[in-house]
Order: sequence, then structure tokens, then C-alpha cells
Amino acid sequence: MTFIPLMSPNLTDEDIAAAVEVFRSGMLVQGVRVDEFERAVAEYLGVRHGVAASNGTATLHLALKSLGVGPGDEIIVPALSHVATANVVEWTGASCVFVDVDLATFNLDVSRIEEAITERTRGIIPVHEFGLACDIGAVIELAREHDLWVIEDAACALGARVGGKCVGGFGVAGSFSLHPRKAITSGEGGFLTTDDDDLASRWRALRNHGIETQNSGKQEFVDAGFNYRLTDFQAALVLSQFRRLDDNLCSKRRLAAVYLSELAEVSELRLPAPGEPGSHTWQTFHVVLDERYDRDQVIERLRSRGIATNYGAQCIPAVSYYRRKYGLDDRRSFPNAAAAYENGLALPIYEKLTEDDVRTVARTLREVLAA
Ligand SMILES: *Cc1c(COP(=O)(O)O)cnc(C)c1O
Repeated sequence: MTFIPLMSPNLTDEDIAAAVEVFRSGMLVQGVRVDEFERAVAEYLGVRHGVAASNGTATLHLALKSLGVGPGDEIIVPALSHVATANVVEWTGASCVFVDVDLATFNLDVSRIEEAITERTRGIIPVHEFGLACDIGAVIELAREHDLWVIEDAACALGARVGGKCVGGFGVAGSFSLHPRKAITSGEGGFLTTDDDDLASRWRALRNHGIETQNSGKQEFVDAGFNYRLTDFQAALVLSQFRRLDDNLCSKRRLAAVYLSELAEVSELRLPAPGEPGSHTWQTFHVVLDERYDRDQVIERLRSRGIATNYGAQCIPAVSYYRRKYGLDDRRSFPNAAAAYENGLALPIYEKLTEDDVRTVARTLREVLAA
């Protein structure tokens, strides 16, 4: 029996050779390859600065630190996301204010944001969940009215566009992950985007022990910074993949279209909204099962038939730490995030998957649901 994993990075010989070249140079830490990668992403995304870091959680943390977020502040985050989106808020001493998501797009329900804003609110972290651009225009508009900043958590959405413009370029900061579950990978890695020169300089210092190089060339320790650097071999590996990003997105859009048609008649599940053309990168193909199914049992049945699936994202207020700290009734306050967490199923989707693989997964899922 062949096994179809949930995700498998597409590393070519050329990608690997790019990393090996760095090994041979002996220059392993952050250096010229990181610079090159940063320039390439900034150009592609249409922003002034790309700033690489060690992962897509460190990037969010850098963004919050640079904006001076601290105890007493409230930050609005979606109730459904990777738990990292909320964890970084906790690290700063600020509090999370959760807002439910829309069950068709899995993105922030913008109509619920305003009621979550108080005089302590500093900003909003919308997530482009599973790779689909959220209604970023509406979020930015609302933020402007209330004098809040927006940090886009675009970890899954590299290359997703709204009105021709890439996500990550709308808020004061855009945060991306280069984890192997995302479209292109450096193993661990991430980067930030911004048009703000001062923020970019602060991130460069904060990721490197707080070191800032003065105009005179002298190094000053301007902050109690972190070591959140990406290495040059990681940058070389991911830059090589980045050059094929458009092909990668194209193949996943084709695979998603096959899933959407193969599963169109299955009444036992809710399919993801495909969004406007170009707005979905399909980092995850996420369906929600009818509540009569035990999702974990479906995962087990699919696994026994050679197909890896998993839940998609956390309903953050429902996981132990957040339940203990905030004591929220997630099913009542965030019914959509709770349903997506309890009954959501992420299906395999990645560049190396074939259309036949997708048909096999869809057929097997139909059979498992009908059994
Ligand atoms: C993957 C992911 C992160 C975390 O990225 P890492 O690189 O794994 O730290 C944060 N937010 C979202 C929405 C993600 O999908």
C-alpha cells in the first residue's frame, strides 16, 4: 500500500545544491544569502523591506515588541488559528481578545471585530487562514477608524493576492513562516515585511541581540534583543524554492480544483470557499465534517487506508492554557472556531501530489464517510 503523507516538501537537487554550496563556504550564520532572500521576497511582495528570522513565531514576536506591546494592552486575534498567533501576545504580557471566524472562509468575521474593541485595544492580528486572504481591506479600514495597527499573520499565505496586491503588504507588518508545512521551507524559518524603514531597522536589531550598526560603522546595543537569526544555508535552500513559487501555487490551485469537484456532491462535509482568483494559496485544503462524525475516528480510518490527514487549526480559547487563563465558553462564544477545531479535517495538498493522488484521497474519504 502506498502512503500519502499530509505534506511533503518539494526539494530539488538544485535547492539542495544551493544549501551545500553554503556548507562548503563555511559561512553558516546569517550573511549574504539571507540578504539576497530578503531582497527577493520584498521585491516579489511589493514592499520596501523583507526581514528574515528563525521562524514564523519569532517574526510575530518581533513585530509586537517593535510596536511596544506590553501588559495592559489588548490585541484582537481570531479564535481559530495556529496557537502561535496568540502565544506571542501572551509573551508580551498583553491579553488576547478572541473574535470568531466565518465558517466558509475560516477567516476573521469582520462584523464581530468592533464589539471586541475597548480603550485598551492596540491592534489586530488577522490571519490569512489556511492560505486564503482574509477581508484585509475591511480590517484595515476598521483599524484606521479606531487608531489601531494591523499585523497580518500571513504564515500560510505567501503569494495570496487581494486586488492584485500580495497579502503581507497591507498591515504595518506582514509575518510569514517557512516551516515544512508551508509552501516553501527552510526547515525552520520565517520573515517579516513592511514599508516602514524604522520598523525594519528595529527588527534587524531585535533579531540580533539588539545590535544596531550606526552610520559611523560602530555597533551599539540598542535593545535587549533576541537571537532570532536565520542561517545562510537555510536562506539558500528556501531562496532556490522561492524562485519556483508561482509554479508551486499554480499546481496547488489545480489540485484544489480537483478536490472541489470530486467532493462537490458529498453532503456530509462542508467545502472551503475558494475565494477570488489568486486569493487562495491552498496551504491547507480544509473541510468540516458533519457533526455526526467522530473526526478523530475518520483520521484513523483514513490512516489505516494509507492517507494522512489531521485537524486543521486550534480553537485557541478551547486549548488548556487559554481555557485556564481566560475561562471562555468556546462553543457558545466562538461556535464557528469550535466547529472547525472539533470537526475540521486537513487533506493532503502539496506540489508533489498528483491529480490521481487527490482523486484517491477524495474517493477514500467518500467511502469512509459512507461506511
Ligand atoms: C505555521 C504558523 C505559525 C507559526 O510558524 P512557525 O514557523 O512554525 O513558528 C504562525 N501562524 C500561523 C497562522 C501558522 O500557520
